[in-house]
Amino acid sequence: MASVEFKNVSKSFGEFNAVSNINLSIGDGEFVCLLGPSGCGKTTSLRMIAGLETPTSGQVMIGGDDVTYLHPKDRQISMVFQDYALYPHMNLADNIAYPLKVRGEAVAKRHGRAKEVADVLKIGNLMDRLPSQISGGQQQRTSLARALVYPSRVYLFDEPLSNLDAKLRLEARGFLNHLQRDMGMTAVYVTHDQAEAMALATRIAVMDQGKIVQYAPPIEIYRRPATTFVANFVGNPPMNLVPVDAIQGDGQLQLRAEGLAIGALPMSNGIAKALETGKTLTLGVRPEHLLIATEGSPNKVSGKLFANENMGPESLVTIERGDGARVTARIFTDDHIQLTEDVTLSFLAEHVHLFDSTGKRIPV
Ligand code: ATP
Repeated sequence: MASVEFKNVSKSFGEFNAVSNINLSIGDGEFVCLLGPSGCGKTTSLRMIAGLETPTSGQVMIGGDDVTYLHPKDRQISMVFQDYALYPHMNLADNIAYPLKVRGEAVAKRHGRAKEVADVLKIGNLMDRLPSQISGGQQQRTSLARALVYPSRVYLFDEPLSNLDAKLRLEARGFLNHLQRDMGMTAVYVTHDQAEAMALATRIAVMDQGKIVQYAPPIEIYRRPATTFVANFVGNPPMNLVPVDAIQGDGQLQLRAEGLAIGALPMSNGIAKALETGKTLTLGVRPEHLLIATEGSPNKVSGKLFANENMGPESLVTIERGDGARVTARIFTDDHIQLTEDVTLSFLAEHVHLFDSTGKRIPV
């Protein structure tokens, strides 16, 4: 296994900057997810590690060596693709053993090794089948087996679970997590699914428009999102973000918005600095930190009931504030909650996130 590093890496396609000056350091044995919306530059970044794309500028390092211009086959990496990229005319044994064949291993040895890996992935009984004769989940495991059959310094994954149905996807995700614990592999994993990134990663690099906007362990990204973009991207349902007018006085900060009744917050240097650039801030509260208000609840937001979805162990209650903006609460209860037309939700001050007028987190 080996570390991976991007040093001031950019990649342009003509005039278009797909990746803009990224710096990223991935430790030996780390499982890093590149997370972001479609088109933000995740796959391009992964392909630069693989050697399938050459950076326009900057360096890509593997295990401390500059591999920027090294041929893919000399990088000792394995890649699992979204569409599995299996050879349709080869049976599973030959598909899985292929990386050993190109490295000149004898047939008995490579099939023996392929069977070992296939057994671990529970497809060892399908070795004579063609890819068209197995299910999507089995194809996904075949592609994983092919990546694992030969020891690599880095494993690269490009949305490997996105073609699976929801149940298989969860199962495969658990399996990948188990594999990582077992092997301690260095992995770079591209996904636009925040739950997948949260579940698998030791660190997540959140990308937006070719840049890394936050690089931190999943829990840090969840608890302290660096921007409103990250706050909105990580968490399901996403964090509620409410634009608020900020008024300061007597060492305190008052926040005003339609339907909002929130106690004063203590002023801090961070808030004072943020207010220099604009008096409209964004208040963030995660759905799981909202409760149905009772008498004496501290901070409140009110509106008309918009939706009340019972999900089994929890309910998603969405209200629409006077200005039409919605706020969703995730209430943990097995019971279907009975609500009137007017609903008030409450939250604790310790669960408040604040962002400045440019969307950057304010340290409070
Ligand atoms: P997705 O989740 O949709 O795969 P992504 O975050 O992986 O998206 P990339 O595939 O890295 O995004 O693409 C980043 C941007 O670069 C996109 O706008 C894409 O259209 C553009 N792009 C990628 N490859 C090329 C290419 N070969 N030529 C021109 N533009 C490209």
